[in-house]
Amino acid sequence: MKKTDDNTLIWFRIITIFPDMFRAITNYGIIKKAIQNNIINIDFINPRDFSQNKYKSIDDRPYGGGPGMLMSAEPLYLSIQHAKSTLKEHATIIYMSPQGKIFQQKHIPILINKKRIIFICGRYEGIDQRIIDNYVNEEWSIGEYILTGGELASMIMIDSISRLIPGVIKKKESIEAETFSNNLLDYPNYTRPRKIKNISVPKVLLSGNHKKIHLWRLKKSLEKTWLNRPDLLNKKLTTEETILLNQFKKKYNKKL
Ligand code: SAM
Repeated sequence: MKKTDDNTLIWFRIITIFPDMFRAITNYGIIKKAIQNNIINIDFINPRDFSQNKYKSIDDRPYGGGPGMLMSAEPLYLSIQHAKSTLKEHATIIYMSPQGKIFQQKHIPILINKKRIIFICGRYEGIDQRIIDNYVNEEWSIGEYILTGGELASMIMIDSISRLIPGVIKKKESIEAETFSNNLLDYPNYTRPRKIKNISVPKVLLSGNHKKIHLWRLKKSLEKTWLNRPDLLNKKLTTEETILLNQFKKKYNKKL
């Protein structure tokens, strides 16, 4: 079926000079399937196609001097106009930027609700500020480090947003139980064989006792979160969680 703006749940449109980089997500695994099933669509607009000069250049030196080049306003402006005018529904324009709000799992439901997102991928030293001030709705960063371009950053956002779109991952439980979903890191998991190089799977997981297994997993989640990401434990713990965590802290402090 031909993809139209009406029959795709979520549409990601990317403004980038390197569309081929996106094969890393469009050609593999769950995202590839979601595209085939028409749940999401990803397409591209290349600012070079809108460059008005004969060399098709899209960058220039910054006014006032300084190192490096900037993506020029005009090809980006024309790309944005084209991106918006060929989508029927309203689209949110996101500029990927290390100066943006830091993207986290908790932001995903709000982004899914937007349904049509146009990502602008910067290159060089970034883009002309007039584009940000006049056409960008939101600036998002994927973390406190500088990448060479916005492509990897937008791929990371698209990949993690897409996983939570209904129908993309079939088993709801695998999403509900994972790291961050309950402000806790995920518990450890094991698969066959039961024993490898004399190392066994924890006995409780073979017991068939669901209550015990739940308790063990909760305990492991709490321990790992306390050790690696104590900042996540700011939430109010249940009585059961507090008891389990205090037991672990006692044991841990004794060992030190
Ligand atoms: N001069 C810019 C600054 O200091 O803020 C950095 C430009 S960076 C070399 C080039 C492009 O990579 C940016 O325009 C942005 O699109 C993208 N980028 C770099 N780091 C990023 C991050 N942490 N999150 C999202 N996008 C990023």
